[in-house]
Amino acid sequence: MSAHPTISPEASSLTNNSSGSVSSIDRPTRQEAEAAVELLLRWAGDDPSREGLRDTPARVARAYEEFFAGYSVDPVELLQRTFEETDGYDEMVLLKDISFESHCEHHMAPIIGVAHVAYMPRRRVVGISKLARVVEAYARRLQIQEKMTAQIANTLESVLDPLGVAVIIEAEHQCMTTRGVHKRGVSMVTSRMLGMFRTNPSTRRELLSLIGQRS
Ligand SMILES: [Zn+2]
Repeated sequence: MSAHPTISPEASSLTNNSSGSVSSIDRPTRQEAEAAVELLLRWAGDDPSREGLRDTPARVARAYEEFFAGYSVDPVELLQRTFEETDGYDEMVLLKDISFESHCEHHMAPIIGVAHVAYMPRRRVVGISKLARVVEAYARRLQIQEKMTAQIANTLESVLDPLGVAVIIEAEHQCMTTRGVHKRGVSMVTSRMLGMFRTNPSTRRELLSLIGQRS
């Protein structure tokens, strides 16, 4: 199958807005979603009417609401509330080991990992839980790790206007462990460094030592 569905210019601009949200695209009903799951159960070779599977389409639809809750969250909005009373604090702010679960957009298989998010405030700081929420907003979508890394960094950069931003993500891709090459224990590391983290080697070294990586 090489044919891709054609997307009108209008539809593609909807999927490419700043937050990456697709909420303006027509969503099927829950009933249609459940019917689609039932079809996949039959495609897998099982009988959706047997007892153990009877409620599975409804459960999967509810699970999807959780897995993909990020589409209804605007990451820019999450960062609107900032604090300026920092007594001149101008060092790195780092939130490390933010665990996340995402799904790869090629196989819809889980991507499980951690994100480290750092920034150098210019004047304003943001509540630290907000950094974790931004990670979650992008993780709970269909993703590739490279894009998710860039989206988090770019959002922090454009909203907080800091002196620098760094995002490092380490994750295992279950599309590699449960199918295809079947390699377990392999993790993929991606990073995006902006501002001081890109231009100043000592800032970058400090970050890497704080998160326990060699530079
Ligand atoms: Zn995949």
